[in-house]
Amino acid sequence: MTLFEKIIAREIPAEIVFEDDQCLAFRDISPQAPIHILIIPKKTIARIAAAQADDQSLLGHLLLTAAEIARRENIAPAGYRLVINNGPHGGETVPHLHIHLLGGRHLNWPPG
Ligand code: AMP
Repeated sequence: MTLFEKIIAREIPAEIVFEDDQCLAFRDISPQAPIHILIIPKKTIARIAAAQADDQSLLGHLLLTAAEIARRENIAPAGYRLVINNGPHGGETVPHLHIHLLGGRHLNWPPG
């Protein structure tokens, strides 16, 4: 089981901010911005490169959920960033698909 599967199973704690039948969202343990939330599918998908055509609706749901959480966290008016790290060069450290929602401060571009 990956770390995030253990969070879904409530085997390790997390500050959960949203849950439905398809996904879970919780605060990143090492926040890189005032708001830093991870949105993950309950289905085990290692990374975006491993997603299949039949995951299309789930992937759309994750993005719409991220936007809804941004509204609830009151960061939508000022703006925010969604990030998916894929593989070693992308900076992926947990092999369970997750969208980073970052906001609450101005974020530089390009990223490091
Ligand atoms: P990535 O580097 O894109 O794979 O993102 C993994 C993220 O998971 C990092 O931002 C970590 O800070 C975060 N993380 C690792 N362990 C935990 C945990 N137990 N609870 C919440 N976030 C975590």
